[in-house]
Amino acid sequence: MKKSSSGLQNSKVITGVYVFVLSYTVLQLVWWGVLLHQQSRQIARYETQELVHRVHELNQPAEFMTEMQRLHKEERMRTFKYVGEGTIFLILILAGAVLVYRSVWKQMRLSRQQQNFMMAVTHELKSPIAAAKLNLETLRKHKLDEEKQLKLLNNTIRETNRLDQLCNNILLASQFEHQKYELFLEFTDLSRLLSTGIEELQSRIASHPIRADIFPHVWLQADKFMIQLMLNNLVENAVKYAPKGTEITVRLRTTEEGLKLTVSDEGEGIAPEERSKIFLKFYRIGNENTRKSKGSGLGLYLTRRIVEQHRGTIEVKDNQPKGTTFEITWNDYSVQSV
Ligand code: ADP
Repeated sequence: MKKSSSGLQNSKVITGVYVFVLSYTVLQLVWWGVLLHQQSRQIARYETQELVHRVHELNQPAEFMTEMQRLHKEERMRTFKYVGEGTIFLILILAGAVLVYRSVWKQMRLSRQQQNFMMAVTHELKSPIAAAKLNLETLRKHKLDEEKQLKLLNNTIRETNRLDQLCNNILLASQFEHQKYELFLEFTDLSRLLSTGIEELQSRIASHPIRADIFPHVWLQADKFMIQLMLNNLVENAVKYAPKGTEITVRLRTTEEGLKLTVSDEGEGIAPEERSKIFLKFYRIGNENTRKSKGSGLGLYLTRRIVEQHRGTIEVKDNQPKGTTFEITWNDYSVQSV
């Protein structure tokens, strides 16, 4: 709480200083324009006086008129020059200001999200370790009946799986960041890969039934590890954000628009204004104090990267009658039974 409010305070101070410096610079520019205008008027007055002394208006009216016109023209040229220079200067200052503001703001947002990420990840790393340790110690100390032992062991496996998933996400995000991950693409039976993945997920997720509706024998050029990670992230999110006992549906079907993989849940859904942001790195809806579920904000960022690397697209939609559907579309696939 303290950290995020001091971060907010900092960004307010920085914005305040920025607005002050920018306003000061623009006002200086305007003031410079006013001074130049006054100077130009003064020069025009001196030159007119000098002309009156030099050329007599009544004796030499033609020469006087010509000189007067020349003076007016010079004054107009001066005005044109400083107004033009000032405008270009103002445009440059404002363009620079927009660029600086955007990059500073982006940097501040990233650093705030990184701070949130560190807090969330510290908890996410510690809690499965603590739970697994406690379970193992209980098993060592007490002679429990077989059923209780199994329960504790299952719980430990669940926790270590969670830890495994988090470590995979963190490592992969860092590899993506440094362009170090090389996809291992092979012609893969996507239907089988998804079905096994769903079975494995259901074996460790007791809180939600997972319904699989998978069109058979669909083949795709894919990196198996990545596709598994993508499926895990989407299903684990459905588990986290939909109430216990509600159904999660994973569907693979071929349509006129292409091959569609959807993961749907019956949770609260995602507000339209959040839909483009949830794929950003470290982005999590709400703030650390109001959020009930823990996470790293990496899952959907990685999911989108994985989908894009497999030349697909991902969209968030409303599920009917309620909840969220993540829909992935591929165009390059084939259906064959061998
Ligand atoms: P994490 O779940 O670790 O916070 P993600 O990148 O997986 O990070 O998700 C980003 C945010 O999108 C989550 O914090 C959550 O608010 C929202 N979100 C993701 N999946 C769902 C879902 N199925 N239902 C509702 N909200 C979701």
